[in-house]
Amino acid sequence: MLFVETPIEFLKGVGPARAQLLQRELNIYTYGDLLEYFPYRYIDRSNITTIRNMNIDEPYVVLRGRIHDMHSIGSGRSTRLTAQLQDDTGQIELVWFQGIKWIKESLKPDVDYIVMGKPTLFNDHINIAHPDIDRADSPTSSNIKYIPIYSSTEKLKAKGLHTKGIARLTEQLLRMAEGRIPETLPASLIQKYHLPSRANAIEVIHYPNSPHDITVSIQRMKFEELFFLQLDYQYAKHDRQRRTNGYLFHIIGEKFNRFYNEKLSFELTRAQKRVVKEIRADMKSGHQMNRLLQGDVGSGKTLVALLCTLIAIDNGCQACIMAPTEILANQHYNNISSMLNGLNVDVELLTGSLKPTEKRKIKQRLANGDIDILIGTHAVIEKDVQFSNLGFVVIDEQHRFGVEQRAKLWTKSKQPPHVLVMTATPIPRTLAMTLYGDLDCSIIDELPPGRKAVKTIHCTDSQRLKVFGFIRDQISKGRQVYIVYPLIEESETMDLKDLMDGYESVVREFPLPDYQISIVHGRMDSAAKDYEMGRFKRGETQIMVSTTVIEVGVDVPNATVMVIENAERFGLSQLHQLRGRVGRGGEQSYCILMTGNKLSNSGRERIKTMVDTCDGFRIAEADLKLRGPGDLQGLQQSGILQLKLADIVSDESIVRAARESVQEILDNDPDLQNIDNANLRLYLQKNKRALAWGRIS
Ligand code: ADP
Ligand code: MG
Repeated sequence: MLFVETPIEFLKGVGPARAQLLQRELNIYTYGDLLEYFPYRYIDRSNITTIRNMNIDEPYVVLRGRIHDMHSIGSGRSTRLTAQLQDDTGQIELVWFQGIKWIKESLKPDVDYIVMGKPTLFNDHINIAHPDIDRADSPTSSNIKYIPIYSSTEKLKAKGLHTKGIARLTEQLLRMAEGRIPETLPASLIQKYHLPSRANAIEVIHYPNSPHDITVSIQRMKFEELFFLQLDYQYAKHDRQRRTNGYLFHIIGEKFNRFYNEKLSFELTRAQKRVVKEIRADMKSGHQMNRLLQGDVGSGKTLVALLCTLIAIDNGCQACIMAPTEILANQHYNNISSMLNGLNVDVELLTGSLKPTEKRKIKQRLANGDIDILIGTHAVIEKDVQFSNLGFVVIDEQHRFGVEQRAKLWTKSKQPPHVLVMTATPIPRTLAMTLYGDLDCSIIDELPPGRKAVKTIHCTDSQRLKVFGFIRDQISKGRQVYIVYPLIEESETMDLKDLMDGYESVVREFPLPDYQISIVHGRMDSAAKDYEMGRFKRGETQIMVSTTVIEVGVDVPNATVMVIENAERFGLSQLHQLRGRVGRGGEQSYCILMTGNKLSNSGRERIKTMVDTCDGFRIAEADLKLRGPGDLQGLQQSGILQLKLADIVSDESIVRAARESVQEILDNDPDLQNIDNANLRLYLQKNKRALAWGRIS
């Protein structure tokens, strides 16, 4: 057995009971796990405080003085020992409940001691229980300058594994580990980035000599962590590409050409042309495509997807477009069928609300190969939906589909289809690199010409009358208005009340017969929602009051005002999505963010970001900085939240270096046959995760 894989139970001082606790509480199973259980901070032993200036809120203080007045109090098991520590500024009580005899004998008067511990307030005076004590002139005190502090739990502390107990174990383990902590990275990388060896980095993180040493060593461990995450993704991708053949779409055929020449009334933007080319290249590479298409709302992603769909059809395949909501699926269906009108392409819609007989008919025709494009919600990945020849899949607004759902698509055809994942919630570069290491990425970073940036204004409740006046003005010019209320699932009833109250005040302000108002919320059934949406879309109503159900994709070019109530309660990406509902036609559009007078710091920051920029990528960066990756949509099931050390926000340059290194290594040595890459091959053999991923995405 490898040293680092030795069960922790065998370490002297651990044993079965503590081993079980270490596993349960800290996920420490082996020697290696304990070695990688790093301190979260250090005490600078030379940073001595005086007793008078001691702050009792500090978790740990370092004092220097002499010890006198030792007394044992009580008897038997409840005996305790107290003593006074004195420096030039005052004195403080030290107290012990265990090991009393030994302490009594070893502490001498007239000797200077370094005393460290957590001060606590007990019966109105401060003491330190079980302090760590060293002679000020002892050799160890000058050796260890930074004392590692490990986090622990109540259960562990009860078994003697407070920070000091853990430190004792790691210290012992590090002594045994000499020469037995294997390197995991290729030597060439260590050289290239001047990294310390793994063994050295680990030792230094536990017992550093300087803050600089800590930084360098932690960087090495972060690099390693990100490197192997990338290796998982990228190796899986290489492996998948070698194992599976992708459909070959050589032809640019009749349907594509007729659509392009006869139906398209505008030029593609440069960005759209570039992305179509990228996808085209994938489609004739012989490999299966897995591509992420990012672009702001309205940048023309759907159109790109449609062009690629036609390529698939011209090459004898079926295509499938998945949308996250029924409203969106409907909308795609209507737009796409009308755009393809006359081209002899069979487009069908499959959603949960179809009647069983209609569903059955569609499934039948799908399996026969009579349907060219199937558009739908999750309904399309149900088990009994089978295609005859599915060659291309578009997944719209990817963050609402989990990896597993995507995986189901693979079983729908003889050969895995090409997959294009579209998202209008741009993902910051670092995040995309980490999260979608296995997807290729295309970006549409340009809006079609003639679009005017949406003017964004922050208003407080006291300006409401002005806002109503502005709305009235826009409506008199023939425009339409959205008024959106937050919807947070935990308090759905309260939100519904907010919405209904809001609706009533809007109705009072904009009365019939001059004004018609639509209302849409999550409690309505989909027929009622569609009916109201339809009225607004056709211009029969001027105002749409709703919850965030209209967040994604709804397209009403005549709408020029988006009022967002309680805007401080929305996340940045959601605000950006909502704002994307306006500014879709040629008119100047406005987004009005309504908030109360009092805002939290992060609320204020979000509103300011929205007012300052319309660039989805900048907003995504700001969102990531404000909230951290944990709160970003769609990241919950992803590996990046399990990162131990690295932080994809602040460690961007390490993310990049790790990704590039993996790319370079796999390009030069795809089977990892070089001796220098032997570690990596070993890692992959052990790590089944990589292969599992390969099957999924
Ligand atoms: P997205 O899916 O990125 O939100 P869409 O593909 O739905 O964007 O396009 C938004 C609107 O812009 C649609 O009405 C579409 O017809 C139009 N559009 C797309 N590309 C162009 C272009 N190159 N020039 C002008 N209008 C375009
Ligand atoms: Mg769209």
